[in-house]
Amino acid sequence: MLLLATMLAETLRKIVSDFSQDGATSAQVDSQIAAALKDVSAERIQATIQHLVGFGTRLTLSGQDPASIQAGRGIGAAREWIESEFERYSKQCGGCLEVKTDSFTEPPADRIPKPTVITNLYAVLKGTDPENAKRIVLVTGHYDSRNSDVLDANGDAPGANDDGSGTAVSLECARVLSQHKFPATIIFLTVAGEEQGLNGSKHFAEKAKQQGWNIEAVINNDIVGGDRNPYQDTSVVRVFSEGIPAAATDTQLPVIRNLGGENDSPSREVARYIAEVGRTYNTGIHPLLIFRLDRFLRGGDHYSFNQQGFAAVRFTEYREDFNHQHQNVRTENGVEYGDLPKFVNFDYVSHVARLNLATLASLASAPAPPANVHIVTKNLENDTTLTWDPSPGGGASAHEVVWRATISPDWEHAERVGNVNHTTLKISKDNVIFAVRAVDDEGHRSLPVVPTPQR
Ligand SMILES: [Zn+2]
Repeated sequence: MLLLATMLAETLRKIVSDFSQDGATSAQVDSQIAAALKDVSAERIQATIQHLVGFGTRLTLSGQDPASIQAGRGIGAAREWIESEFERYSKQCGGCLEVKTDSFTEPPADRIPKPTVITNLYAVLKGTDPENAKRIVLVTGHYDSRNSDVLDANGDAPGANDDGSGTAVSLECARVLSQHKFPATIIFLTVAGEEQGLNGSKHFAEKAKQQGWNIEAVINNDIVGGDRNPYQDTSVVRVFSEGIPAAATDTQLPVIRNLGGENDSPSREVARYIAEVGRTYNTGIHPLLIFRLDRFLRGGDHYSFNQQGFAAVRFTEYREDFNHQHQNVRTENGVEYGDLPKFVNFDYVSHVARLNLATLASLASAPAPPANVHIVTKNLENDTTLTWDPSPGGGASAHEVVWRATISPDWEHAERVGNVNHTTLKISKDNVIFAVRAVDDEGHRSLPVVPTPQR
């Protein structure tokens, strides 16, 4: 009797815990990814953030002339140091990283009084499979900072949380993942110009679009420091994703409108993928999906990628303290202002870095998503037939159809359909939202693709 009661209680607990995870699916744990997660270091992240703060200010308009760089103050010195960090990680993996700069002169604008050189820095961990190496997953943070006056090039702007934390996530992911190999390519990016108008990310995303880069997912980490305020929830990081894509064309918009597609942008599928990664790996943090582009009155670099048609999401701590962002360092009436390292929770940043790392590694290990995914709408019928082209680049050994109720936020069901290119399910397409993803022998899953109707 006691045993039965214990079993019942156990079952109930499981039901409750499964339910509280929102979403039914978790993936198979990859031992390489689980091992890499253990190498993420809160101490390394702390050292990176403190080093960045040590440049005094990283305002995009601050010094980048040789004297400033020599003196170790300003964005130029920060830029040189980040580049040297990427180079150092690359040495540790036998030159596996290609360290690159994307430099341009931004003409005068609202927040740019005179022509200003802006430099993005990035490291490329090229995929090991020639076909899959063309697929890219990308993590980014902005290394520029600001204080109360967005034009103050001389005053201190420590930017420990905004966005030393996001820069540290990009660097830490590069340091750890460069010790591993993946079939697809991973790019670790740090951009400048964010505070002046997303200039760096805009330039980078436009270049990627013009050159036809196949970027499958972008994770932008901006303010992931877990500010030590009493309302902070250190178990949660917010994941913002756009609804109707910024880049949706005039022919796509009516389809989205007619079919209830407003909740299935590619960015939102990335967010759901992150939720699944969060259920699969022990990262120390739970992604809280926010179905919204960004917070009120704020923007970020993921939007630059969204505008060019790339799937991109933003990670931000659960509860921000606006006294600790965009503020001159000072104390007024006993209130401390300024973006200082002492307000940053380095363990929290390391958990966010783990969630980033597990997502990047999962996507870079997975086969490409299936192409040309369609839902057949030739006849009025209650069954659903889905068709697709095999995942390009090989690697997929099966496909899975996932679906959910139209009112549900995350995938609720998954059915494996083998290595085929079509399937018919006894479920009405009128009542649920479907997607198809590719799976390999080790259980790595691609991003799911929502079908478009085909007569
Ligand atoms: Zn920021």
